[in-house]
Formats: sequence, C-alpha cells, structure tokens
Amino acid sequence: MAKGHVRDIGSEIRGALADTAMQGAIFRAMGSLRARRALAWPSVERFEELRREARAVKEEALERAEELLAEFSARATEAGAVVVRARDAKAATAYIGDLARDRGVRLVIKSKSMTSEEIHLNKALEAGGVTVVEGDLGERIIQLAGERPSHLVVPAIHKSKEQIIRLLAEKMGIAEPPADAEGLTRLVRQDLRQRFLDADMGITGANFGIAETGSIVLIENEGNVCLTSQVPPVHVALVGWEKVIPRLADLAVFLELLPRSATGQRLTSYVSLITGRQAAPVLRKQAGRPSSTGPGAAASAQPAREFHIVILDNGRSQAAADSELREALYCIRCGACLNACAPYNLVGGHVYGGDPYPGGIGCPWTYVTKGHTEAYDFNSLCTTCSRCTEACPVKIDIPWLNTVIKERNNREFGAGLRQRVFARADLMGDAFSPIAPLANLALRTAPAHWSFEALGIDPARRMPKYEQKTFMGWWNKRPARSPARPAGEEAAAGKVAVFVDCFMNHNLPEVGKAVVQVLEAAGVEVTVAHNSCCGRPSLSQGLLEAPRRWAVDNLRELGGLIDRGYDIICVEPSCLSALRDDYRRLLETTAHAGDPRIQLLEDHAYDVTEYLVLMAQQGRLHLDLAPVEATYLVHGHCHQKSLGIGSAPAELLRLVPGATVHEVEALCCGMVGSFGYKEEYSALSQAIGGELFDKLQAHEGLVVACGISCRSQIEQGTGRTVVHPCEVVAGALRLP
Ligand code: SF4
Ligand code: SF4
Repeated sequence: MAKGHVRDIGSEIRGALADTAMQGAIFRAMGSLRARRALAWPSVERFEELRREARAVKEEALERAEELLAEFSARATEAGAVVVRARDAKAATAYIGDLARDRGVRLVIKSKSMTSEEIHLNKALEAGGVTVVEGDLGERIIQLAGERPSHLVVPAIHKSKEQIIRLLAEKMGIAEPPADAEGLTRLVRQDLRQRFLDADMGITGANFGIAETGSIVLIENEGNVCLTSQVPPVHVALVGWEKVIPRLADLAVFLELLPRSATGQRLTSYVSLITGRQAAPVLRKQAGRPSSTGPGAAASAQPAREFHIVILDNGRSQAAADSELREALYCIRCGACLNACAPYNLVGGHVYGGDPYPGGIGCPWTYVTKGHTEAYDFNSLCTTCSRCTEACPVKIDIPWLNTVIKERNNREFGAGLRQRVFARADLMGDAFSPIAPLANLALRTAPAHWSFEALGIDPARRMPKYEQKTFMGWWNKRPARSPARPAGEEAAAGKVAVFVDCFMNHNLPEVGKAVVQVLEAAGVEVTVAHNSCCGRPSLSQGLLEAPRRWAVDNLRELGGLIDRGYDIICVEPSCLSALRDDYRRLLETTAHAGDPRIQLLEDHAYDVTEYLVLMAQQGRLHLDLAPVEATYLVHGHCHQKSLGIGSAPAELLRLVPGATVHEVEALCCGMVGSFGYKEEYSALSQAIGGELFDKLQAHEGLVVACGISCRSQIEQGTGRTVVHPCEVVAGALRLP
C-alpha cells in the first residue's frame, strides 16, 4: 500500500472487476444516461452558452459567499424560517438532534441529501432513538442494503433490478416478489407512503438557495422531496455553504442545465421553491390534527409548521479561500462527470469514491469535507483523461483538481520511485535511444521484469520500443528544403513549428517524419521547436515543479516562434492538452501567472490533424493523393475529445480519396499515459479498453490512433497494428 493510504485500492478494484452483476448494472445505466444526455441539447453552441453563464453565476456566488449568505438568512428569517450556521458535521448533527428531541420526534423522513450523508446524519439521529427512513427510492434501497450511495443522482446505480427486487422483498418480508418495475414501484410506494404521513420531521437538502428571496430550491423527479418538505410538521433543510446564488433569475440557467446533464431530461418533474415557513400541512391527516384543507380548517388549532435551515460549512469556506481547489465548490451535483468517466464506469462509486462523494469530483469533495488522507486513497484512479470536464455543465477542471491533490499527497508523504520514473519520459528517452537495440532487448528480460515488479509495474505490459535514430537526429541531418507551393502561389500555405514530444522523438520518429512530409506537401513551411518536455508525464504523477520550469522554457521558445509567424503543431494529443489547458493552471500560483504568452500559445497551438482539417475547411489544403481502397477504424484520443477536436483525425482521413472511415466510439482505451502500466490499475486499464477492443475486432480495417499510449494499449489488446492518421495520408501522397 502506498504511503499515506489507508485503503487497499488494488484489492478493491479486483473485487469490483469480479462483480459482474455490479458492472452490468452500472454499464447499462451509464450507457443510457450518456445517450439521453447527448440527445438533450438543442446544440453544442447552446450548451457552451449555458455553461458559461452557469459558471459565471457560480463564480460570483463564491466571490460574494458571505454577503449572499447574510442576505439569504435575513430574507428567509423574515419569511418565518429559523436559519442557523453549522461550522462542521458535529454542530449540524447536534442542532438537528436537539431539535428532534425538543419536538418529541420519533420518525424522520429524509429525502435526497448528499450533504446529510456527508455528516452521517442518520447515524446521529438514530443514536438519539429516532427512526430515519429515506424517502427517495434510490436512497431507500441503499439504506435497506446498509450501503452508501455510489452515484450523485442515482444512488443505487450499482444494483441490478433483480437485486433490488430481492432486497426489498426480503426486507419487507414478502414471500413472492414482483418480477417487473411496476411491481417494484408498488412495493416501494407501499413501504413509504404511510411513513410520509406519520413522520414528525422531514429533512431535505437543497439544490440552491436564493439570496434575493431567502428561498431554497428542490429539484426532483419522484415527488418524494415535495412530500418530505410539505407533510411533516417540522421541515429541516440542510444546505451546503456554497449553494446560495444571488438572484432568482439566476436559477433559470441551472433549471436548463441540471436535468439535461443529470438524466437527459429537458425539465425535472418537480421544482419546488420554498420561502419561509409554510402555512400548514396540506396532506397531513392525523388524529387530533384536522386537515387544513378540510371544513373548519381555518378555525382549527393546528400548530404552525416549523422550517429550519441549517447552513453547513464543514470545510467549504476554507476551500473557497484555496485558489487551487475552490472550483470544486461550483459543483451542482448532476453526476454527468461520473457518467463520462471510464474508471467509474468499471468499478463504481464505492471503489472510485469517498464517503460519500463518488468519482473524480468526489476526490476534491472528500479532501474538503473529510480531510486529506481519505482523498489520497482513491485520487490515483483519476487518469486525468479530461472526459469529465467536457461533460461538466459548469466546466470544472476535475483532472486538474486531482492533480493538485496528488501533488499535496506527494508533498506530505513523498513521491514514490515509480512516480519519479514515469514522470521522466524525457530522461528515459535520452538514456535508452542511443542504446536502443540493447535497451529494447534488456527491457524484455527476466531481471527487467523483476525490477518492474519491485517498482509496482505490471511486468506483463510491454514497454514502448525505443529507436536509435530519433526524430531530431533525422531532422538535423536532412537538407533544408522549401515547401511545395500550390501552382501560382508565392507564399507558403502556412508556417508551423513542430513541437517535438519525447515519444515522437524517441519512440515514434516515423510518425514525426510523416507529419513533416504531409505538412510540406501541403505547402506549409515547417521548422521544429527546440522545446522542453511538455510536462504531461510529470503532471500525471502529481510532480509539478519540473513542469512549471518547462512551461516557462516552452513559453519562451514557443512564444518566440509564434512572434515570428509560426503556429505550433503537436503530434501527441496529451502534449497539446498540456500547452492549451494546463500551463495556465500550472503557472497561476507563480510569478508567471498572467504571462500574455500563455494566451498566445493557447490560440496558436494545434493538433496536426486539426491544423490540416482547418486548412481544408478554408480551402487551403491542396494535397495530391492517390486513391486508396481501404477502411480505417479511428479511435479518438480522450484529450482530442476534451479539446473539442475529437473528430479531426477521421475528418482528415476522409480527405483521402476512396477511404472508408469509421469512428469507433468507446469511453477510453484505458491506458492513459502510465496508468495502465501500474500494477494495481493494469487489470482495470485492460477492462476499460475491452469495449474498444471488441468494437475494433468486430471490423476489418486498419486501426488509426494518435496517442502513443492508445497505440500501445490497442496493439496489446487486439494484436492489430496501429498507425497515426498522418502516416496514412503520407502513404497516399503522390510525390513528384
Ligand atoms: S479525468 Fe478522466 S478519469 Fe479523471 S475523473 Fe475525469 S473522466 Fe474520470
Ligand atoms: S463536477 Fe460537474 S459534472 Fe460532476 S457532478 Fe459536479 S457539476 Fe456535475
């Protein structure tokens, strides 16, 4: 077990991978949620517009948090609510426990509140002799199973329908359980309905608080949250410190974003705005307590209902002051990031998650609310693939948050040798390339495998082959040449500097040569950048000092090239992701924050396939390509997708006359840098890749992928050869 870790995550992963019922349940549900979400948006542009708006509201809300909380509390109090602030879990559970005791509460009905799971409210109330019943179907299932939620929106997503029916029947003492969903719903209704009517206290969370009106907002589909908040004589809303937004009008954007992101619905079934104490219970009919809607209701001695709002801090205000982690507080708990996340899809939220927050966003939330060590335990399950950021309606950079947490873990407990080895792809290349034949042989010997095992690297994994003739060796020896010019054109079609990444240079020089060949054939003036490592291999190990230095060096080198009219071309998508997405974050806590070259680089760095497709779209790409009779199966790199250029490789291949191109959709290849090499994650990595392998094996054709780790994973998983799109285009060039 790694330093600073309490859980044995490797054995938890093995257990989850062996649980086929759980995997089937999650995989089916996730697939359907992703498909529904994809159909829910009128357009990509509208989604982008809404999420910019939502993020701006959240940024303002956090910036003005204390001021808004004061306004919210004042308005809610004026409307008859009792508002209290709880510094931590102990204070919140003590307040609610005391209230229950004072009011003689015996039965609490509780609906949909991750915040109450966070503070283990049920346990605290039960210790005081109160019975707590979960009113939400998923939560009720989890409660009966004695588990914690495994998803933010669908807490029992890891259970199959059959398992749920068996569980409910057993707990309710039903000898012949129903076989279908309708029967299941009837069972639950039977179980819950009377408890709503009998409960002495209802506890809810809140999706939002509105400072302007002092209202809380509850968004749901089943109607159980409405019942919980409206029927019992006492309603307690447990509201996270970060939940208050400034104005009622700000709610509109979230009402569009939240249901679409969560379940693919345009609108949820119920949206309740509760402002202050409600007049009287609407549905409650108990002995001695006549219905307020019945005859004589106005004159009855019905006691006034109570409404208590408990605003829970529990680490949130501290996180808001932490410039690296504050972004986690923008989360609106829609769960879209979980649905997009490959490791989560395979092992679920009990393994990839903390108490109670699951998935990649669960790690910063666990860090904020439970402390560092618990978060470190599952932090490395985040491969930093960025698929979640693409899905998140407030564009939270979850992989960056996890990188920061990994760095803090390294600072606290020290980085392991394996991390330090994987962080230095540049040094390994420099050391192994000059002796490549020997190094490649040595890396496959038994002593090398023993060393891998000792380091925690799966010896069954093949290390990438090193080439003695590097890309830079080839470049330095080739004669200077002018780009081919389209007939009648004087100037080059563009000027680019190729970013020389460690893998292209040392492991895949042929890909680099093909890239140069295609660009020059397109009339582009090509040079190479004398750059340092992009930093991505170190970043993914949570070692940020070297990448910070390299980022500064690269800004100088690449900024200078851009000033001289060059665009920067990346071949490895992960390097592009570092240049376009990570340098701003990497340098934001340094003296280089705000360096204008960061923006310059973001605007001028391209993936090579993206650059060529852009040229084609602008009518500037003139390649003389021979027709082919071939089928290409294209796997899109996660970072290409998160950068919004996921279809560029396929679009480039479609320019080759006669090419049949299929984009093979899968969550991820599973390798993601060094993730798949690590002993405890290797089986998970291969299981993630399984979907892609099966789809590729079902078709004839040449497999095309851009990243080196995708190539390596697909080659090992399918035995098929994988090439870069530029190798295909270079092969089709009719050269003079
Ligand atoms: S970056 Fe990838 S692995 Fe990490 S949480 Fe996001 S989707 Fe999951
Ligand atoms: S991080 Fe984003 S996608 Fe994930 S639950 Fe929060 S708001 Fe939704």
